[in-house]
Amino acid sequence: MTYALEIKNLKKSFGNLEVIRGLSLTAKKGEVLCIIGSSGSGKSTLLRCVNLLDIPDSGEVYVNGELLKMKKDKKGKSIPAEQKQVDRIRSKLGMVFQSFNLWSHMTVLQNVIEAPIHVQKVDKELARKNGYLLLEKVGIAEKADQYPSSLSGGQQQRAAIARALAIKPDVMLFDEPTSSLDPELVGEVLKVMQSLAEEGRTMIIVTHEMGFAKEVSSKVIFLDQGRIEEEGTPSNFFNNPQTVRLKRFLATNL
Ligand code: ADP
Ligand code: MG
Repeated sequence: MTYALEIKNLKKSFGNLEVIRGLSLTAKKGEVLCIIGSSGSGKSTLLRCVNLLDIPDSGEVYVNGELLKMKKDKKGKSIPAEQKQVDRIRSKLGMVFQSFNLWSHMTVLQNVIEAPIHVQKVDKELARKNGYLLLEKVGIAEKADQYPSSLSGGQQQRAAIARALAIKPDVMLFDEPTSSLDPELVGEVLKVMQSLAEEGRTMIIVTHEMGFAKEVSSKVIFLDQGRIEEEGTPSNFFNNPQTVRLKRFLATNL
């Protein structure tokens, strides 16, 4: 079978700091994987290695069955073999960051239609139409012509989700999408993410929202020092943790 995302024995170091230490995981189409773990355990690096914002040292990443081809440069460092393939694979991945990363000089709608028009060469009118639909979906259609700075954090993050959806990605990657929000704004973003999960989108979500992870995950993964320390269905994972480290983590984070 073809996985939406498959990672095999991924390794990544920064200097002599080993951050990802032989990590493997799979996500079937429509699955929602929530990744939890302490700060510094390698969660962001893992997501960044999937869309090559960080370059893995070794291991394999497959997106919809397509292997990201790597080669060694003159110094023996691992680099992507083909920029074309990197662009193609990135266009199948929607990424949402903790810090929204909207372009401040563009309106909300312009943010959403930028990649479809300029990267995917979608017709402008069609892109605008789709853009409005996506803003409706995340509940901020009335903000289409405003600039990001006039939106609340929750609205900005929903705009960032609409922007990530606009390229029609096969897999959505979320890196702590609610961590920089005021508590009262977290719910509106989680609600949008939950509706995406219910639509059957494949999502890999790094989060500290345990209740959310329990509710929407197909599988929960506990990352510790660059390795998967424990994984399981939400009910097993939260109600019957096996490892000392996960028990300890849950005791301080639930
Ligand atoms: P998490 O997202 O789980 O908090 P990260 O993946 O951001 O963890 O970081 C894991 C470790 O890798 C940390 O010790 C961090 O300081 C280090 N790290 C991350 N990115 C870099 C980088 N570009 N250069 C050097 N060290 C990095
Ligand atoms: Mg992080």
